[in-house]
Amino acid sequence: MVELTVAEYLKVGLKRLVAAVFYYFFPWRSFLSRLGRKAIFIVVYHRILPDGKQSVLPYISVDPKEFEKHLVFLKANFRVISLNTAVDLLARAEQLKENYVVITFDDGYSDNYDYAFPLLTRHKIPGVFYVTTGLIGSNKLLWADAVRYISYGAQLTACPSNETKPGHPKHYEFRLWKRIAEAKRDIARLKKVDEKKKWEWISAAAQTRGLNLDKLKGFEMMNWNDLREMAGHGMIIGSHTVSHPILRNLGIGELQKEIGHSKRGIEEKLDKNIAHFAYPNGTRDDLTSIVIETVKKTGYRSAVTTIRGANYPGANPFTLRRTGVYRTDGVREIVLKFCIEKALGERNKHN
Ligand SMILES: [Zn+2]
Repeated sequence: MVELTVAEYLKVGLKRLVAAVFYYFFPWRSFLSRLGRKAIFIVVYHRILPDGKQSVLPYISVDPKEFEKHLVFLKANFRVISLNTAVDLLARAEQLKENYVVITFDDGYSDNYDYAFPLLTRHKIPGVFYVTTGLIGSNKLLWADAVRYISYGAQLTACPSNETKPGHPKHYEFRLWKRIAEAKRDIARLKKVDEKKKWEWISAAAQTRGLNLDKLKGFEMMNWNDLREMAGHGMIIGSHTVSHPILRNLGIGELQKEIGHSKRGIEEKLDKNIAHFAYPNGTRDDLTSIVIETVKKTGYRSAVTTIRGANYPGANPFTLRRTGVYRTDGVREIVLKFCIEKALGERNKHN
């Protein structure tokens, strides 16, 4: 136990230190703007929630004040553009003249509307929101959230979030490090299991721990009115399937339903063409050729993954790379991530 807590404390501290040293001593501005090819960085957030409200699953949430700092920083150092413009630029043969950033959100939590949307509007940034259509307007849990809630979220709800930060005694008392590792293991295992069996396991695990997964607070998703208002203010709404399954586990019928119904569902409700898709999970393993083909054939213009990296002209618009931003990331960590991604992109020129 002690070793684990010390290890985690050191890990977060070390990450911050490395990012700070890099930020202040490495000439990252000239590295990004003068050396090699310019790139489009697509950033992905999940939840934007104030510190006091994020005790359910704190690790994927970014505080709105911190988020606004990111926006100000990104606007000052990059050209922040819409996804439509990014896809156009990537389709051209010529090299980019500057570095661009696109800001995206996965899953469709209601905090995206409450906190991210006003800030994006204030800073005139067109964000992209990939929504899971079967959950719109509900507080049903995404399956991975259900696993996280069962492992550690339930213990955190009674605890003020500042007490769950790495380094705080409560963090150790709840054995959070251990529980997070447990949730990660369960999620990795369940990704290989079909949808029905996965949900059976989740219900059984919840029952064993005496937890009721219905009508939980803290998991509310955006509703159609929210999405309509956002689309009316220049935000892009994209599809993230109907039920957030692991697409590679599905037969062709189910696959077409998840990818096609979600597109048509949003189009009917918003009276807008829906052109962009985000693969749930979105790792290399999830991107089988049949999954990518189905997205293409359904009529999308682009699809984003969770594969880390920068995007360059000529990139396949159906396997766009992204940079994940999480709770412990500030602007220095974002800079470090961009530089690493650019360095890797330079190494693999075919990227
Ligand atoms: Zn997702």
